[in-house]
Amino acid sequence: MQPSGEQRNRPARPAPERAALARELARRVGEDSILWTDDTLLPYDVDGFTLAKFPPDLVVLPTTTAQVTDVLVFARAHGLPVTARGAGTGLAGGALAEEGGILLVTARMDRVLEVDVSNRFAVVQPGVVNAHLSERVAPHGLHYAPDPSSQMASTLGGNAATNAGGPHCLKYGQTHQHMRALTLVLADGSVVEAGSRALDPPGLNLVGVTVGSEGTFGVVTELVVGLVPRPEAVRTFLAVFDDVTSAGAAVTAIVGRGIVPAALEMLDHLTIVAVEPYVHLGLPLDAGAVLLVELDGPAAGMDRRAGEVHALCREAGARSIREAKDEAERLLLWKARKGAFGAMGRLASGFYVMDGVVPRTRLPEVLARIEQISAEQDLRIANVFHAGDGNLHPNVLYDVDDPDSVARAWRASERILEACVELGGSLSGEHGIGNEKRDLMGLAFAEDDLAAMAALRRAFDPEGRLNPRKMLPLRPGCGEGLPRPGLAAVAAGLSPDGEGPWI
Ligand SMILES: Cc1cc2nc3c(=O)[nH]c(=O)nc-3n(C[C@H](O)[C@H](O)[C@H](O)COP(=O)(O)OP(=O)(O)OC[C@H]3O[C@@H](n4cnc5c(N)ncnc54)[C@H](O)[C@@H]3O)c2cc1C
Repeated sequence: MQPSGEQRNRPARPAPERAALARELARRVGEDSILWTDDTLLPYDVDGFTLAKFPPDLVVLPTTTAQVTDVLVFARAHGLPVTARGAGTGLAGGALAEEGGILLVTARMDRVLEVDVSNRFAVVQPGVVNAHLSERVAPHGLHYAPDPSSQMASTLGGNAATNAGGPHCLKYGQTHQHMRALTLVLADGSVVEAGSRALDPPGLNLVGVTVGSEGTFGVVTELVVGLVPRPEAVRTFLAVFDDVTSAGAAVTAIVGRGIVPAALEMLDHLTIVAVEPYVHLGLPLDAGAVLLVELDGPAAGMDRRAGEVHALCREAGARSIREAKDEAERLLLWKARKGAFGAMGRLASGFYVMDGVVPRTRLPEVLARIEQISAEQDLRIANVFHAGDGNLHPNVLYDVDDPDSVARAWRASERILEACVELGGSLSGEHGIGNEKRDLMGLAFAEDDLAAMAALRRAFDPEGRLNPRKMLPLRPGCGEGLPRPGLAAVAAGLSPDGEGPWI
């Protein structure tokens, strides 16, 4: 996606200044761990949220907790902000070095340090790619359950920082339910061990507050993550419906029957049109929605539950139901879902992957609102959902070469999130807040709530050095709710206000 209408309000420091900082830092972490020239920094000025770009001054690639401490002590001495980054797949602009300074990339901290099969946990560095951990422990009959669709690239450190979800989190729970302990390096370089390898540790739950804090509390340098047994049996179905309302009725019926599928994912008509030419599943291009249902668990009773899912889909109006005959076909059915974002590139030159959440039963209402917003803004919007938990991903399609189209995409996103909140939901089901939704936090939280979050953040990072300008609005409100300068101002080609982070 070309960055037309993007936020880019600050150039990197001049090259000689960056070179001097790099030379000094190299004495602590080694020359080959630092990037500072314009060409080597280029891939790091953007993450998965491609509407915003901010170049860091230095990129540092440490390999150990001790090196991370060195980097943070150096940053503090030089008054530099530090932003942690895993694979940079985040869709909320969380890994952008918005105030420049050091981008601390964990890609080389990619070792699985220990696998304890009996106690079902693994000790890993933060740069381990999500899917690699499951591959590594598969011979022991185990896997790491949270499976963001980016799992082939995103890292466990990034997953922890965003409290990542994924299709199978409906049954197994999001990332926070699988984190037992974290090693965290704070802004002053001190190292905190939170949690325990054993279950239910005493003391304040520092793991709980750190997971989802988007790199604003500290840099995670080691994680102890829970592992779960691979299910004995798995059955996967793809049901085709005329419209999203009947697919939604099937979701309600399945959940209402007390069945807890491992995953319950929905794609709407426009998404089907995007993915079919890519996966060649034979999906009818006039279908209104497809529902991907996966059941897993003990083999005993699986036939009965599979039969119930079939019947409930039929009763809700499914035109056809296809069941995967083997693992290869199962992966093909999943390709339609996991490749859905990428396939959007077939429909428009730009697409903005959004993330919101509503109570599951409000999905039909939010979809009606999205249809209305799509008409108002004259933009097509394709929807992908984790339907079982009410998490929606509208993909707003726009023309990257048309600033007005970009501005309308911003407006559409803002309206959709307003609708989610009005319907009893919230601003994010899994991608986090980052830079993208920072200025919308006032929609979902009262000022006292935000002040409590800011106070907690200050307790971890009193100077606001870590990932500044992320998650919390830039200015406290003045009684009428927090101002939201970001989206509209950016769409109008203005830079966001420069008042600094609200911490
Ligand atoms: C195609 C696609 C599909 C996706 N599907 C899903 C999905 O199903 N579910 C989902 O939840 N997300 C999904 N995402 C979004 C993204 O992959 C997740 O947010 C993921 O957790 C980010 O991991 P990362 O390693 O890329 O982190 P980054 O993008 O590098 O960073 C994300 C945030 O984590 C912080 N961070 C990273 N590492 C550390 C660390 N070691 N210590 C402290 N803070 C750190 C960063 O500062 C930033 O705030 C998807 C993205 C894409 C492109």
